Amino acid sequence: MTASPESHLAGPADPEHDLTATYALDPAYVRALTSRIVSTSGETVATSSPLTGQPLASIPQSGDSDIDEAFRRARVAQRAWANTSVRLREATLLRLHDLVLQRQDEIMDVIVWETGKARRHAFEEVLHIALTARYYGRASHSLLASQGVTGVFPGLTQVRVNRLPKGIVGMIAPWNYPFSLSLCDGLAALAAGNAVVTKPDSQTMLTALLGAQLLEEAGFPTDLWKVVAGPGSRVGTAIIDQADYVSFTGSTATGRKIASQCGERLIGCSLELGGKNPILILRDADVSRAVEGAIRATYSSAGQLCMSTERMYVADQIYDRFVPEFVAKVAAMDLRDPMQWSCEMGSLTSQAQLDTVTKHVEDAVSRGARVLCGGKARPDLGPFVFEPTVLEGVTPGMTCFGEETFGPVISIYRFHDEAEAVERANATDYGLNASVFSRDVERARAVANKIRAGSVNINEAYGATFASLAAPMGGMGESGLGRRQGPEGIWRFTESQAVAAQRLLRFSPQFGLSQERYAKVMTSSLRLMKKLGAK
Ligand code: NAD
Repeated sequence: MTASPESHLAGPADPEHDLTATYALDPAYVRALTSRIVSTSGETVATSSPLTGQPLASIPQSGDSDIDEAFRRARVAQRAWANTSVRLREATLLRLHDLVLQRQDEIMDVIVWETGKARRHAFEEVLHIALTARYYGRASHSLLASQGVTGVFPGLTQVRVNRLPKGIVGMIAPWNYPFSLSLCDGLAALAAGNAVVTKPDSQTMLTALLGAQLLEEAGFPTDLWKVVAGPGSRVGTAIIDQADYVSFTGSTATGRKIASQCGERLIGCSLELGGKNPILILRDADVSRAVEGAIRATYSSAGQLCMSTERMYVADQIYDRFVPEFVAKVAAMDLRDPMQWSCEMGSLTSQAQLDTVTKHVEDAVSRGARVLCGGKARPDLGPFVFEPTVLEGVTPGMTCFGEETFGPVISIYRFHDEAEAVERANATDYGLNASVFSRDVERARAVANKIRAGSVNINEAYGATFASLAAPMGGMGESGLGRRQGPEGIWRFTESQAVAAQRLLRFSPQFGLSQERYAKVMTSSLRLMKKLGAK
């Protein structure tokens, strides 16, 4: 894993040998990254790696004056950036694409070290940012181009719609996909001519700072992307106080607070929040494909993925073939040494995550749920490792029935007909992602169309929608507001402006007409235009 020349991580020579405790990030590398934080407060907070509990970094904290300074510098940089051509911004994004692919080992080392996730899941973050950079690196000029629209008097009223940058986008990001989620929204914001002031989660600052460094190496001006650090309740709030728009990814509880603070300031926000995502295995599903998909859907990043599946509905006709194969494969998953490609599921990221997952499983078991595999913490493998877990017999009184666990736990339910399965899948206040497995794609599509979720993947866990950057991604209900990716993903960072030029005809009586006569002529004209099919 540390073979690349860019690696700043020392590790065991023998990858077969599970000695995560011997990994260490180069202290000079860590200091270079943390020096990017706007901080003069002199305060620091220590972080540790979930892999081993070893100290990781000392993170300088941003005080109020630092946040003011970040905004002051970002404002100056944004004014200049807004005057650059969209083609130049696209070229910078395409350079970022190449850099991210080139430096993937370095990026994955830092992600694994900070989150404890398996290397294969860290790679998804590399892929997602490369795809995002490519999409906005190619599509922004057409998405942002000034558009002509039909005026009230066609030919005489010439209207163009412009898309102007909002100004400074405040971005508040979580720890679970720290590279992907500290960058992806911001790339669209930069493409639209904005600056970004961002507060990544305290646990995953190094990954977010590496992202900031790569942006600068790709050619984005330094002050266009300012990183501040500190607790969300203080620093996040201070960001919202000064931003022109807020892009938030995190829990539904925090999302509500952010929406209300943005409401007070009358600024817009997009909120990418939690989920309790269902997977439907229809009676004609290809069992081995569905097993592989369900494992990825449930256990990627140890279930700490907003799009992870936590409820599985399996058709009666296939239940007794599918479930034993699924459980056998889950029980055999390799949980050793997340730094290696061979690891199939890594650690949870924090004690708080481990506590929640343990509580949900214990609660379900104490109320009668059956553990088909997993079900316990594995301190022998790492301080926060919890086994991939399959539960059967989960009922509405149990916490994990409706609440997001955000961990490697799935509840399996049997269903008799597809309409009932859709109804149960929709019986949640969330609506982020869903998966449907069937050999008959048209039938699966008909089922998918009835599911209340922002994305539905057919014969795939989540990658088909998540990685299709031209499509919108986001949540219905308590899973969020607004969409990232696709045209909506960049338009949210713009103000649309209509500029109309009126020729010849005025909006007041002319040619000696009285006001009354003018009203009559206008009335006849409107009737005629409707008959002629005008919009
Ligand atoms: P969280 O809401 O606790 O924290 C997210 C970020 O918000 C952190 O940077 C935190 O410091 C900051 N924050 C906390 N309180 C704040 C406040 N009052 N004002 C401003 N900022 C504040 O969420 P988390 O536990 O870090 O992340 C896990 C949650 O995120 C899960 O529910 C998961 O489903 C969701 N999530 C959603 C998506 C998505 O795209 N829909 C992606 C990843 C994670």
